[in-house]
Amino acid sequence: MADIGFLNGRFMPLAEAMVPVEDRGYQFGDGVYEVIRTYRGVPFQLEAHVARLERSAVAIGLPLPFRAAEWSSYVAEGIRLAGYAESKVYIQLTRGVAPRDHLFPVGTPPTAVMTVRQMRSLDPVLCATGVPVITVADLRWGRCDIKSLNLLPNVMARQQAKDAGAFEAIFVRAGEVSEGAVSNVMLVRAGVLVTAPADERILSGVTRAVVLDLARKEGILVEERAIRVEELRGADEIFLTGTTVEILPVIGVDGVVVGTGKRGELTRLLSHRFRSFVE
Ligand code: PLP
Repeated sequence: MADIGFLNGRFMPLAEAMVPVEDRGYQFGDGVYEVIRTYRGVPFQLEAHVARLERSAVAIGLPLPFRAAEWSSYVAEGIRLAGYAESKVYIQLTRGVAPRDHLFPVGTPPTAVMTVRQMRSLDPVLCATGVPVITVADLRWGRCDIKSLNLLPNVMARQQAKDAGAFEAIFVRAGEVSEGAVSNVMLVRAGVLVTAPADERILSGVTRAVVLDLARKEGILVEERAIRVEELRGADEIFLTGTTVEILPVIGVDGVVVGTGKRGELTRLLSHRFRSFVE
């Protein structure tokens, strides 16, 4: 078993994968990415991730070096070469290597990078007991639906959360909850599941879509609408969704206890449904 790197169609040991310093991903954050995990060795919702990668690339005018089927076979090959029971696949696509200039370079091929590492799931105790979060000002740009490499506000927010003894930072813009630094946010009030709409203020999470689908199949009423930050305090339950956090209960916001301070019933039900779905 070994960490695997991939550069423009070629696999290699991860430590040997190198990109020149003039890559625009490095100099401008001029690129997009995806994170995909496996369950039982199979990449989860691969088509949805590849489709989102393509949407992100198109949105920034970045030509795609591979078709969807090619991405899928590269991901499968990377997982096979790495040989882990569960893998975490990172794909990054940048506008290529060119002398530093803001303007798009002409005739420069994009850089396609992939890394495959062992997937380490979150501590199951955390998933059962829940985590505290903090709220932070959403200082990001106006196209959070694009999975852009520019993650400085997310990096700052996540560190701020850690320094405050919290797990995640929840972005708030103009009094409304957008999403977490690495996750989407859902709350439950009087049996209704509420989450922000998939507009330009959030990343439309692959996990979010699966969870909303599972909830609707359970007959749970789902509202995709703006969430006022005050609603977090009155919520019966709050949880995060994402590739790395799956369904993670939130038990405190800015030091105020959520609901009973324990994982809520609906969160538990959806976690079980999610587990059955992935397995
Ligand atoms: N929102 C942000 C800002 C993220 O970075 C992520 C995941 O990385 C998500 C939401 C959750 O998306 P997904 O469920 O596709 O992993």
